[in-house]
Amino acid sequence: MEVNHDFKTVATLLLKSKKTVAFTGAGISVESGIPPFRGNGGIWNQYDPKILELDFFMQNPHHCWPLIKTLFYDFFDDKQPNAAHRILARWEKEQLLTVVITQNIDHLHHLAGSKNVVEFHGTSQRLVCLECDFFTEDTPGYLLKLPPTCPNCRSVLKPDFVFFGEGIPREAYVRSMEAMADTQLLLIIGTSGEVSPANQLPYIAKRNGAAIVEINPEPSNYTNALTDFYLQGKAGEILLELDRMIHHEQQLQQ
Ligand code: NAD
Ligand code: ZN
Repeated sequence: MEVNHDFKTVATLLLKSKKTVAFTGAGISVESGIPPFRGNGGIWNQYDPKILELDFFMQNPHHCWPLIKTLFYDFFDDKQPNAAHRILARWEKEQLLTVVITQNIDHLHHLAGSKNVVEFHGTSQRLVCLECDFFTEDTPGYLLKLPPTCPNCRSVLKPDFVFFGEGIPREAYVRSMEAMADTQLLLIIGTSGEVSPANQLPYIAKRNGAAIVEINPEPSNYTNALTDFYLQGKAGEILLELDRMIHHEQQLQQ
């Protein structure tokens, strides 16, 4: 694949497409100060991923919960959406974007104002009991004493995001498959394409004839496999440039 810096072509595609999906990963939140899992400064260079293995977590909640709280609650606490999240939210309002499918659990697409968001890996915003049907969004309240426990059955509460060894939430899975099968244009933003089964979603769009645009400072598993237009750089900077180009094109058309 030839590296393509043609913002104008992508801007034109975005304006023409009737259905556009953004598929985002940890990279879109890096400019908000949240590190990715892998690569430079990645979480797993410093912490043992075992804390997110379901069996290990259930057997060792006293060990796992303080680390999970540091990584996914204290650390996410003051983080704000960046230009990339905000532009995607505005594009939804302007009907340039249909849906965001995110692998992130940080809630930043919602905070930026996106309404149609599929959280493929769930969210850190909610805690759930695996033994009964209790759940709560009062995470700060429940995390005052660790590990948090279910008020009904006393079992340990788990963050409502997907741990290693867990399935994908059914509704998120179905909505993602449908959106990918139906889209004309797919924007892959800040994902390495390492995590399965999420990494299979873009192939559905490709098979159905969607044009694939990728935004990432580093080539990913997709770059040489299915990307049509590779815009190399940070999500915030590239989306700002694309946004400028779109408005320029719109003015020319008026
Ligand atoms: P990943 O950690 O495997 O890869 C991150 C990707 O982002 C890399 O390809 C990297 O080159 C790219 N990147 C780095 N800086 C960027 C920037 N400024 N702009 C655009 N791209 C940039 O992430 P993944 O593919 O999303 O898979 C990791 C899994 O970890 C996901 O399932 C996700 O749930 C989870 N995760 C979530 C968060 C979060 O919620 N913010 C953070 C870390 C990990
Ligand atoms: Zn319970």
